[in-house]
Amino acid sequence: MKRRRSLVMLAPLAAILLLYSSCGGGMTLQSADTFPFPAANEEQAVFRGIHRKRRFKVCWLQDHAETVGQRNRVKEIILQEYGKTPVEFYGFGNCTDDVNEAYRIYVYDDAELSPRVADVGHQIDKPKTTNGFTWHVVLNFSYKNWSKICSKPKYQDNCTTFIALHEFGHLLGRVHEHAHHDSTCRDYRLRERIGGFRTNFPYDASSVMNYCLNGEYTFARKTRRLSAGDISATWKAYGAAFGNGYARVTHGTALKRSPEANKPEHRCKLNEGSSFRFSYLGTYGNHIKIQLLDAPVRKACASKLRRNTAFIFPGHFAFWK
Ligand SMILES: [Zn+2]
Repeated sequence: MKRRRSLVMLAPLAAILLLYSSCGGGMTLQSADTFPFPAANEEQAVFRGIHRKRRFKVCWLQDHAETVGQRNRVKEIILQEYGKTPVEFYGFGNCTDDVNEAYRIYVYDDAELSPRVADVGHQIDKPKTTNGFTWHVVLNFSYKNWSKICSKPKYQDNCTTFIALHEFGHLLGRVHEHAHHDSTCRDYRLRERIGGFRTNFPYDASSVMNYCLNGEYTFARKTRRLSAGDISATWKAYGAAFGNGYARVTHGTALKRSPEANKPEHRCKLNEGSSFRFSYLGTYGNHIKIQLLDAPVRKACASKLRRNTAFIFPGHFAFWK
């Protein structure tokens, strides 16, 4: 009798675990999202398994004519948004036979194999195989068998772009923001993950690593952009690997004497489209601290800054080496 009762109690728990285990609503335990919560000190735990590189070649396993538009859209959003960070995704051609040549993207619409990564961060380097395709990342473009709401024309682009930004975040080592100890996510489908890790980073409701919107589990209505928190966390993890490079202003902005500087005498205004060479010095909240390396900018901003260093909000720039 006793044994039977415990089995009855376990059954719903098993069902819950099966439901919650995958990255985005699938039904299998073989999921990227079953990884343990991250070590306490890896960039204050919003990362797990930071790579020892900052450039990531990716390729498509299938060359179907009907997905060209969505493949181009994924490439566009990834280049645009991760261009605000020190990491670089490149390639986006067809995969070769060499499994180690690039991170392989498998496009598959399946109720069980939801969009996911083979593993998080550098652990992803061991790919998985499904239907003869050896993949590192799974994306879905048609949503007929999984997350059907995304097949509606008004949601499809949101789903595709948000999920791509999310899975590429896992590839870099990011964990789920809705598991943050201060998470306000109260959707029952995510309940087991709430409070999953503690971090010095504030809870970021707008993160691409957060499935929640206003407390509910969704990605159909999520943003197509990296949040300020996503960008600064990625700088914190990969900025040192970036070192020196170039920045181009994509939104009118200023070089600031401190992250909080609002007075005109402490802000050096830059024109949209202008670019300059810099060295990365560190991440402070949502700003990064840089050393200016180009004489004209140093001269133009000298009276407003301190020792040719400046704070900038990286979401307003595109970066390259
Ligand atoms: Zn995920």
